[in-house]
Amino acid sequence: FSSFPGMPKWRKTHLTYRIVNYTPDLPRDAVDSAIEKALKVWEEVTPLTFSRLYEGEADIMISFAVKEHGDNYSFDGPGHSLAHAYPPGPGLYGDIHFDDDEKWTEDASGTNLFLVAAHELGHSLGLFHSANTEALMYPLYNSFTELAQFRLSQDDVNGIQSLYG
Ligand SMILES: [Zn+2]
Ligand SMILES: [Zn+2]
Repeated sequence: FSSFPGMPKWRKTHLTYRIVNYTPDLPRDAVDSAIEKALKVWEEVTPLTFSRLYEGEADIMISFAVKEHGDNYSFDGPGHSLAHAYPPGPGLYGDIHFDDDEKWTEDASGTNLFLVAAHELGHSLGLFHSANTEALMYPLYNSFTELAQFRLSQDDVNGIQSLYG
């Protein structure tokens, strides 16, 4: 595993998140539960807890956008870049943007929102990419055929626990 330069991490264990907008690809409920499930992945192995805000500035602002969307990292249409996230910090930091030119799905038929959200949340919490191909933080999107059996690798657990215990 690896962290970002300077090892940024949240200096608190209770974090807030907000789903700013939705993709037209999925019902809102499906987006909400994919995000909740992704948060749980990290909650289960750290002292971190998350609660949802419906307005105002949350630590982790989650949004869907296409092409140029107000930061210096334009999305690129279908494929290639699926999403990006900023390491812990104020303002834009900690935030997650999903490329809405992808076809977001609950299963593995398109780009699975839960898997990408779980990976991006790793970044929001301070993990950078891992060279371990089993790791959620491996830079390539793997569509796990058995989504129901998804588990964090030991590498991911070691990484996040190195930051938060
Ligand atoms: Zn962005
Ligand atoms: Zn990544």
